[in-house]
Amino acid sequence: MNTVRTHSVALPRFSFVLLIGLLSSGCISSRRIQDYTVARSSSCEVHGSVMNNKLVPQTFGMKRSGWILKLRNARECVFPHADEIYDTSFCMPSNEQYARIWVCRECTAARTKWLLENPPFLEEDSSYVRFCDLMWKEFRESFVGRK
Ligand SMILES: [Zn+2]
Repeated sequence: MNTVRTHSVALPRFSFVLLIGLLSSGCISSRRIQDYTVARSSSCEVHGSVMNNKLVPQTFGMKRSGWILKLRNARECVFPHADEIYDTSFCMPSNEQYARIWVCRECTAARTKWLLENPPFLEEDSSYVRFCDLMWKEFRESFVGRK
């Protein structure tokens, strides 16, 4: 008896949670997207490649370890259009939770190569890279990330 009662109560709750989840993940208001492609070339300034625009999660944080500064410099000069989450480096979160960016295939490969050649040596740096990659992976696997 208890099992039947549990199912009949749990299913509507689960359906409601699922519905809210689908609604909230399926629609992203343009107010939540910072568009970094507007008035910017669709050709990579480092590799000369034609790029595709992509929606990615946006994060923030004033991380200032030596390795993070080196990564930030590489993001600007070596792989400015890698397929990764967008870190504003601001100390406060933006209103926008997502970023529309230009993505270059060569920049993405350069990022992977750079991380292999310059592995983080502090735990906080390693956890930052893991956080970025996990956030990006979860977004790609979400409904919005597959659109
Ligand atoms: Zn590039």
